[in-house]
Amino acid sequence: MSAECSHIGEIQVKRLPESVDGCEDCLREGTGWVHLRLCLVCGHVGCCDNSPERHATRHFEETGHQLIRSIEPGEEWSWCYVDEIAMIVDGIEGQTRIPPSPLLS
Ligand SMILES: [Zn+2]
Ligand SMILES: [Zn+2]
Ligand SMILES: [Zn+2]
Repeated sequence: MSAECSHIGEIQVKRLPESVDGCEDCLREGTGWVHLRLCLVCGHVGCCDNSPERHATRHFEETGHQLIRSIEPGEEWSWCYVDEIAMIVDGIEGQTRIPPSPLLS
């Protein structure tokens, strides 16, 4: 674990999607999510570690895509699974409209 993330160059998603329907794996599998996380390498939308299926972490384990960003309203932080640090990544534009969590409503 280092003090800085060395994976910023892996980021392909520079603009957040305007809206998403929810965790794409939960929607396919019929499960529910708590909070939504966007993969900054490929744009996959997964769910947080408080969600039963932890699809964002599973996406990292399956693909090696190490950087996610929260797309919860008002949250701007990103997380690197490899370096295990949270950070604000500059240069990512936009705001994503998300539906309410099916588990928290
Ligand atoms: Zn990193
Ligand atoms: Zn999910
Ligand atoms: Zn990805």
